[in-house]
Amino acid sequence: MRASVVNYCAEIGKDPLLVQGAGGNVSWKDGDTLWVKASGTWLADAAVKEIFVPVDLPHLKNEIAGGNFGVTPRLSGESSLRPSIETLLHALMPHKVVVHVHAIEVLARLVREDFDTHVAVPLGNRLKWIKVEYKKPGADLARAVHEALAERSDADIVFLRNHGVVIGGSDIADIDSKLCLLVSLLESPVCETVPTRTAVKALKVNSGVEYQPIVDGSLHQLALNPALFERLGADWALYPDHVVFLGAQAHCYEDEKEFIESVVHNEVMPELAFIRGGGVLAQAGFSQAKQAQLRCYADVITRQPRDCALSSLSRSQIGELLNWDAERYRQQMAK
Ligand SMILES: [Zn+2]
Repeated sequence: MRASVVNYCAEIGKDPLLVQGAGGNVSWKDGDTLWVKASGTWLADAAVKEIFVPVDLPHLKNEIAGGNFGVTPRLSGESSLRPSIETLLHALMPHKVVVHVHAIEVLARLVREDFDTHVAVPLGNRLKWIKVEYKKPGADLARAVHEALAERSDADIVFLRNHGVVIGGSDIADIDSKLCLLVSLLESPVCETVPTRTAVKALKVNSGVEYQPIVDGSLHQLALNPALFERLGADWALYPDHVVFLGAQAHCYEDEKEFIESVVHNEVMPELAFIRGGGVLAQAGFSQAKQAQLRCYADVITRQPRDCALSSLSRSQIGELLNWDAERYRQQMAK
């Protein structure tokens, strides 16, 4: 089982439409051991280093049965890594293999206000699925999934609104066929790109902080396309990884002059600046993990129909993500 899981992780980990940076996690059950991805590791690295941690499965099942979703998983072997924040989610699914991803075609629909029209109707009764409303990842989310599964115990697909999907299966082939079907049923057209005019240039501000045009040139569309630029202000905090890596709000400027004045006066020194009609600037040292998240966001919002209402996380939901030690650890692990 290990070899097929590792190969699959390395494969999906390379596809930004399925996995972004350190996001997503995978597990398999082997007797009393739950092998689960370690927090902060990348699925894409599965074939080149150990990203899995062995966890005591009967212990977790006992705690879940007793309603203790805040339990700290117990390692059942040597590892210097910490099990994923979502370990309980993997333990409570009865399936041999469990894959949780933020697949773009699915996520792009899970952030829309009208779930029935955009997810339930296109799926029909082709798959056995349940949905849970947004919950903070970890204990709260695990409890919600556990309760939803009690209503439909044969479900093998769990939609997490404003977050992603969990798929359970007997083996990797089973998981892959479900994921492929989901992606094809929920695919959305991508909006047209706007031609690049004068792109923003690198600049150094008085405090020595350097800003450079974002390395992935396609991301300038976020500032060049007027419809996407509006989304930055109105629909920024759509799902947890985005907020954790890129912050509670987008820093948008009407033009380069407004941005320069703002940083000269040291009002805010944002890591990312979106200049309307100009492009996207990032502070030097903007990490790969953050860039993967920005790409994810662009992939999600370029798939939104023009007038489609999206649901964003509330201020308190954003606050609980940003003041969370488990996420700080994952951030430190990020490259
Ligand atoms: Zn997730």
